[in-house]
Amino acid sequence: MKRFFKSILVLALLFIGLNFAYQKTAPEIEKTFGTRNPLPYLTAKVQQFISPEKIQNDDTNADSSKGHTFETNSASVYLDLSDPTLRQAAIDGINIWNNTGAFNFKITNDKSNAKIIIKAMNDGQTNAAGLTDTQYNSLTGHLIKATVRLNSYYLLNPSYGYNHGRIVNTVEHELGHAIGLGHKNGISVMYPQGSFYTIQPSDVEAVKKLYQEQ
Ligand SMILES: [Zn+2]
Repeated sequence: MKRFFKSILVLALLFIGLNFAYQKTAPEIEKTFGTRNPLPYLTAKVQQFISPEKIQNDDTNADSSKGHTFETNSASVYLDLSDPTLRQAAIDGINIWNNTGAFNFKITNDKSNAKIIIKAMNDGQTNAAGLTDTQYNSLTGHLIKATVRLNSYYLLNPSYGYNHGRIVNTVEHELGHAIGLGHKNGISVMYPQGSFYTIQPSDVEAVKKLYQEQ
């Protein structure tokens, strides 16, 4: 019995020690990686090293929409997706953007009047897990329409390792392009490779700034 209490005491001290170490290092981790959870970043780096061919870029022409905005920070979205995994990821990605307060996507059943259409593609010829095309009015500079394509060739093939979270990240990234964000290095949903990051506070600021300036 005494030994039992001794083990409990050792475990408790160990826990307190680890917790203390975490509290001490968390700000350092945050300073270095811009987040308290550097795991996705480290995973990305390791995966890039081990199998660079398994890391998808996206959308080479994506920066074409950069800086162009819809008239307001709101747009209707039509989900042209029959696959339940992609459909759910699209809904989740939309909700995460909506929860930031920076932009409001409204799901609509009216395909012909939707500002943004999210559809699927299945193409192994491109290295892109997602693609976004935008049209904007050359006089006003405002976005008119955007089409987001989610590439099931990578996103739904288990050997490329996209779990639900990374598919949602891909949706968030493409929606970022659809509303005028370009690529960004470092920890950002707009990092151009791998879909390892969700929306960061700096991404929210970038959208707010973009839509305040107009
Ligand atoms: Zn992109």
